[in-house]
Amino acid sequence: MPVYFRSMNNRQILVKSLVLLILQLFCSLFESVSFAASVSPNDFSSANAPRQVNTLIASKSSPVVVLDPGHPSEVSSGDAVQNGVREVDINWDVALRLKTILEENKHCQVVLTRDQKSHLTTNRARAECANHLNAAIMLRLHCDTGSGRGFTYYFPDHEGAAGGKRGPAPEIIAESRKAAREIFEGSRIILATHLRDNGIKTDRETAVGGRLCALIGSIWSEVPVVTIEMVFLNNSGDASFIASPDGQNLVAEALASGIERYLATRRKE
Ligand SMILES: [Zn+2]
Repeated sequence: MPVYFRSMNNRQILVKSLVLLILQLFCSLFESVSFAASVSPNDFSSANAPRQVNTLIASKSSPVVVLDPGHPSEVSSGDAVQNGVREVDINWDVALRLKTILEENKHCQVVLTRDQKSHLTTNRARAECANHLNAAIMLRLHCDTGSGRGFTYYFPDHEGAAGGKRGPAPEIIAESRKAAREIFEGSRIILATHLRDNGIKTDRETAVGGRLCALIGSIWSEVPVVTIEMVFLNNSGDASFIASPDGQNLVAEALASGIERYLATRRKE
Protein backbone atom coordinates (compact mmCIF):
# COMPACT_ATOMS: atom_id res chain seq x y z
CA MET A 1 0.00 0.00 0.00
CA PRO A 2 1.40 3.43 -0.87
CA VAL A 3 2.57 5.45 2.09
CA TYR A 4 -0.15 8.05 1.47
CA PHE A 5 -2.91 5.58 2.32
CA ARG A 6 -1.55 4.01 5.50
CA SER A 7 -3.97 5.90 7.67
CA MET A 8 -7.25 7.72 7.32
CA ASN A 9 -5.47 10.86 8.45
CA ASN A 10 -3.03 10.77 5.57
CA ARG A 11 -5.80 9.96 3.12
CA GLN A 12 -7.77 12.97 4.32
CA ILE A 13 -4.72 15.16 3.88
CA LEU A 14 -4.24 13.87 0.34
CA VAL A 15 -7.91 14.45 -0.56
CA LYS A 16 -7.82 17.94 0.91
CA SER A 17 -4.66 18.73 -1.04
CA LEU A 18 -6.26 17.54 -4.27
CA VAL A 19 -9.38 19.61 -3.59
CA LEU A 20 -7.32 22.72 -3.01
CA LEU A 21 -5.26 22.04 -6.13
CA ILE A 22 -8.43 21.72 -8.20
CA LEU A 23 -9.82 24.95 -6.76
CA GLN A 24 -6.60 26.84 -7.43
CA LEU A 25 -6.38 25.49 -10.99
CA PHE A 26 -9.99 26.47 -11.55
CA CYS A 27 -9.30 30.06 -10.49
CA SER A 28 -6.18 30.22 -12.66
CA LEU A 29 -8.06 28.86 -15.66
CA PHE A 30 -10.96 31.20 -15.09
CA GLU A 31 -8.63 34.16 -14.73
CA SER A 32 -6.91 33.52 -18.07
CA VAL A 33 -10.21 32.89 -19.85
CA SER A 34 -11.63 36.16 -18.56
CA PHE A 35 -9.07 38.14 -20.50
CA ALA A 36 -10.47 36.91 -23.81
CA ALA A 37 -12.15 39.89 -25.45
CA SER A 38 -14.76 37.70 -27.11
CA VAL A 39 -16.17 36.37 -23.85
CA SER A 40 -19.41 37.91 -22.65
CA PRO A 41 -20.36 38.33 -18.98
CA ASN A 42 -23.08 35.71 -19.41
CA ASP A 43 -20.43 33.08 -20.11
CA PHE A 44 -19.51 33.23 -16.43
CA SER A 45 -22.93 32.61 -14.93
CA SER A 46 -22.99 30.27 -11.95
CA ALA A 47 -24.74 27.69 -14.08
CA ASN A 48 -21.55 27.36 -16.13
CA ALA A 49 -19.32 26.63 -13.13
CA PRO A 50 -18.08 23.05 -12.98
CA ARG A 51 -20.52 20.99 -10.92
CA GLN A 52 -17.71 19.09 -9.22
CA VAL A 53 -16.18 22.28 -7.80
CA ASN A 54 -19.53 23.37 -6.37
CA THR A 55 -19.93 19.97 -4.72
CA LEU A 56 -16.44 19.93 -3.29
CA ILE A 57 -16.78 23.29 -1.58
CA ALA A 58 -20.21 22.73 -0.03
CA SER A 59 -18.92 22.24 3.50
CA LYS A 60 -19.72 24.51 6.43
CA SER A 61 -17.00 22.90 8.53
CA SER A 62 -14.38 23.76 5.91
CA PRO A 63 -15.53 26.97 4.25
CA VAL A 64 -13.84 28.43 1.19
CA VAL A 65 -12.06 31.72 1.80
CA VAL A 66 -10.89 33.64 -1.25
CA LEU A 67 -7.97 35.99 -0.66
CA ASP A 68 -7.36 38.68 -3.23
CA PRO A 69 -3.85 40.14 -3.11
CA GLY A 70 -4.36 43.56 -4.71
CA HIS A 71 -2.60 44.52 -7.99
CA PRO A 72 -1.56 44.38 -10.71
CA SER A 73 -4.97 45.15 -12.16
CA GLU A 74 -6.55 47.24 -14.89
CA VAL A 75 -6.62 50.12 -12.37
CA SER A 76 -3.02 50.07 -11.15
CA SER A 77 0.15 48.00 -11.27
CA GLY A 78 0.85 48.62 -7.59
CA ASP A 79 4.57 48.58 -8.31
CA ALA A 80 5.49 52.12 -7.21
CA VAL A 81 8.33 52.00 -4.67
CA GLN A 82 7.46 53.78 -1.42
CA ASN A 83 9.85 53.72 1.52
CA GLY A 84 11.73 50.94 -0.25
CA VAL A 85 8.76 48.60 -0.78
CA ARG A 86 6.06 48.00 -3.39
CA GLU A 87 2.39 47.46 -2.57
CA VAL A 88 2.10 44.50 -4.93
CA ASP A 89 4.82 42.68 -2.97
CA ILE A 90 3.34 43.40 0.46
CA ASN A 91 -0.16 42.32 -0.56
CA TRP A 92 1.17 39.07 -1.99
CA ASP A 93 3.41 38.23 0.95
CA VAL A 94 0.70 38.85 3.56
CA ALA A 95 -1.80 36.83 1.51
CA LEU A 96 0.53 33.81 1.50
CA ARG A 97 1.08 34.04 5.25
CA LEU A 98 -2.65 34.42 5.86
CA LYS A 99 -3.41 31.46 3.58
CA THR A 100 -1.10 29.22 5.59
CA ILE A 101 -2.64 30.23 8.93
CA LEU A 102 -6.21 29.78 7.70
CA GLU A 103 -5.47 26.37 6.25
CA GLU A 104 -3.37 25.02 9.10
CA ASN A 105 -5.12 26.56 12.12
CA LYS A 106 -8.62 27.65 11.09
CA HIS A 107 -9.87 24.69 9.00
CA CYS A 108 -10.46 26.77 5.88
CA GLN A 109 -9.98 26.00 2.21
CA VAL A 110 -8.17 29.01 0.81
CA VAL A 111 -7.89 30.08 -2.81
CA LEU A 112 -5.99 33.10 -4.09
CA THR A 113 -7.47 35.05 -6.98
CA ARG A 114 -4.26 34.61 -8.95
CA ASP A 115 -1.37 32.19 -8.94
CA GLN A 116 1.55 34.55 -9.58
CA LYS A 117 2.47 37.83 -7.97
CA SER A 118 3.12 39.58 -11.30
CA HIS A 119 0.05 38.22 -13.10
CA LEU A 120 -2.18 41.13 -14.16
CA THR A 121 -5.75 40.26 -13.13
CA THR A 122 -8.79 42.46 -13.61
CA ASN A 123 -10.93 43.31 -10.61
CA ARG A 124 -13.86 41.69 -12.36
CA ALA A 125 -11.94 38.42 -12.75
CA ARG A 126 -10.98 38.49 -9.08
CA ALA A 127 -14.62 38.78 -8.03
CA GLU A 128 -15.78 36.15 -10.50
CA CYS A 129 -13.23 33.73 -9.10
CA ALA A 130 -14.84 34.08 -5.66
CA ASN A 131 -18.33 33.91 -7.17
CA HIS A 132 -17.75 30.62 -8.92
CA LEU A 133 -16.28 29.06 -5.82
CA ASN A 134 -19.27 30.33 -3.81
CA ALA A 135 -16.77 31.64 -1.28
CA ALA A 136 -17.90 32.30 2.28
CA ILE A 137 -15.93 35.54 2.12
CA MET A 138 -13.58 37.35 -0.25
CA LEU A 139 -11.01 39.44 1.58
CA ARG A 140 -9.09 41.89 -0.57
CA LEU A 141 -5.66 42.98 0.63
CA HIS A 142 -4.30 46.43 -0.21
CA CYS A 143 -2.04 49.18 1.11
CA ASP A 144 -3.02 52.83 1.00
CA THR A 145 -1.16 56.01 0.13
CA GLY A 146 -2.09 59.44 1.43
CA SER A 147 -1.99 61.68 4.45
CA GLY A 148 -2.92 59.09 7.07
CA ARG A 149 -1.45 56.00 8.64
CA GLY A 150 -2.74 52.69 9.93
CA PHE A 151 -5.38 50.22 8.80
CA THR A 152 -8.86 50.77 7.40
CA TYR A 153 -11.61 48.33 6.42
CA TYR A 154 -14.00 48.99 3.52
CA PHE A 155 -17.26 47.38 2.45
CA PRO A 156 -19.85 48.19 -0.24
CA ASP A 157 -22.91 49.97 1.19
CA HIS A 158 -24.46 50.94 -2.13
CA GLU A 159 -25.02 49.49 -5.57
CA GLY A 160 -22.49 50.66 -8.13
CA ALA A 161 -21.95 50.16 -11.85
CA ALA A 162 -18.90 49.10 -13.88
CA GLY A 163 -18.45 47.38 -17.23
CA GLY A 164 -22.18 47.07 -17.80
CA LYS A 165 -22.73 45.35 -14.45
CA ARG A 166 -24.72 46.73 -11.51
CA GLY A 167 -24.01 45.39 -8.05
CA PRO A 168 -23.55 44.16 -5.49
CA ALA A 169 -27.04 42.88 -4.70
CA PRO A 170 -28.77 44.11 -1.50
CA GLU A 171 -28.20 40.81 0.33
CA ILE A 172 -24.49 40.92 -0.52
CA ILE A 173 -24.30 44.50 0.72
CA ALA A 174 -25.92 43.45 4.01
CA GLU A 175 -23.65 40.45 4.46
CA SER A 176 -20.55 42.44 3.49
CA ARG A 177 -21.43 45.03 6.15
CA LYS A 178 -21.68 42.26 8.73
CA ALA A 179 -18.45 40.64 7.53
CA ALA A 180 -16.57 43.94 7.75
CA ARG A 181 -17.79 44.46 11.31
CA GLU A 182 -16.91 40.93 12.45
CA ILE A 183 -13.50 40.82 10.77
CA PHE A 184 -12.72 44.25 12.16
CA GLU A 185 -13.75 43.27 15.68
CA GLY A 186 -11.77 40.05 15.45
CA SER A 187 -8.58 41.71 14.26
CA ARG A 188 -8.49 45.23 15.66
CA ILE A 189 -6.93 44.44 19.04
CA ILE A 190 -3.95 42.72 17.43
CA LEU A 191 -3.55 45.25 14.62
CA ALA A 192 -3.89 48.26 16.91
CA THR A 193 -0.85 47.18 18.91
CA HIS A 194 1.27 48.51 16.04
CA LEU A 195 -1.02 50.43 13.67
CA ARG A 196 -3.52 53.26 13.94
CA ASP A 197 -7.11 52.02 13.92
CA ASN A 198 -9.09 53.93 11.29
CA GLY A 199 -12.18 51.76 11.70
CA ILE A 200 -14.63 50.72 9.01
CA LYS A 201 -15.52 52.86 6.01
CA THR A 202 -17.57 52.34 2.87
CA ASP A 203 -16.36 51.72 -0.68
CA ARG A 204 -17.74 55.14 -1.57
CA GLU A 205 -15.06 56.70 0.62
CA THR A 206 -12.35 55.43 -1.76
CA ALA A 207 -11.29 57.19 -4.96
CA VAL A 208 -12.69 54.55 -7.33
CA GLY A 209 -15.72 53.82 -5.16
CA GLY A 210 -16.51 57.51 -5.00
CA ARG A 211 -16.89 57.58 -8.78
CA LEU A 212 -18.66 54.23 -9.27
CA CYS A 213 -20.57 54.05 -5.92
CA ALA A 214 -18.63 50.85 -5.08
CA LEU A 215 -15.25 49.32 -5.83
CA ILE A 216 -15.16 47.32 -9.07
CA GLY A 217 -14.38 44.11 -7.21
CA SER A 218 -17.44 44.71 -5.03
CA ILE A 219 -19.71 45.53 -7.96
CA TRP A 220 -18.95 42.16 -9.55
CA SER A 221 -19.03 40.22 -6.30
CA GLU A 222 -21.85 37.81 -5.55
CA VAL A 223 -20.31 36.77 -2.22
CA PRO A 224 -19.58 38.88 0.89
CA VAL A 225 -16.62 41.13 0.11
CA VAL A 226 -14.40 43.19 2.39
CA THR A 227 -11.31 45.21 1.53
CA ILE A 228 -8.58 46.13 3.97
CA GLU A 229 -6.01 48.83 3.43
CA MET A 230 -3.48 47.37 5.83
CA VAL A 231 -1.17 50.40 6.12
CA PHE A 232 -0.21 53.65 4.43
CA LEU A 233 2.94 52.73 2.52
CA ASN A 234 4.07 56.33 2.17
CA ASN A 235 4.23 56.51 5.98
CA SER A 236 7.71 55.36 6.94
CA GLY A 237 6.62 53.77 10.24
CA ASP A 238 3.81 51.81 8.59
CA ALA A 239 6.07 50.76 5.71
CA SER A 240 8.89 49.46 7.87
CA PHE A 241 6.39 47.53 10.00
CA ILE A 242 4.59 45.81 7.11
CA ALA A 243 7.88 45.12 5.28
CA SER A 244 9.20 43.03 8.18
CA PRO A 245 8.39 39.31 8.56
CA ASP A 246 7.18 39.99 12.11
CA GLY A 247 4.86 42.73 10.92
CA GLN A 248 3.46 40.58 8.11
CA ASN A 249 2.92 37.68 10.50
CA LEU A 250 1.12 39.91 12.97
CA VAL A 251 -1.19 41.27 10.28
CA ALA A 252 -1.85 37.77 8.94
CA GLU A 253 -2.62 36.45 12.43
CA ALA A 254 -4.98 39.35 13.06
CA LEU A 255 -6.83 38.88 9.78
CA ALA A 256 -7.12 35.14 10.40
CA SER A 257 -8.72 35.85 13.77
CA GLY A 258 -11.13 38.26 12.14
CA ILE A 259 -12.11 35.80 9.42
CA GLU A 260 -12.54 33.06 12.02
CA ARG A 261 -14.89 35.30 13.99
CA TYR A 262 -16.97 36.09 10.91
CA LEU A 263 -17.17 32.44 9.82
CA ALA A 264 -18.36 31.49 13.32
CA THR A 265 -21.37 33.79 12.89
CA ARG A 266 -22.24 32.04 9.62
CA ARG A 267 -22.13 28.61 11.26
CA LYS A 268 -24.74 29.70 13.81
CA GLU A 269 -27.24 30.64 11.10
ZN1 LIG B 1 -4.03 48.80 -3.71
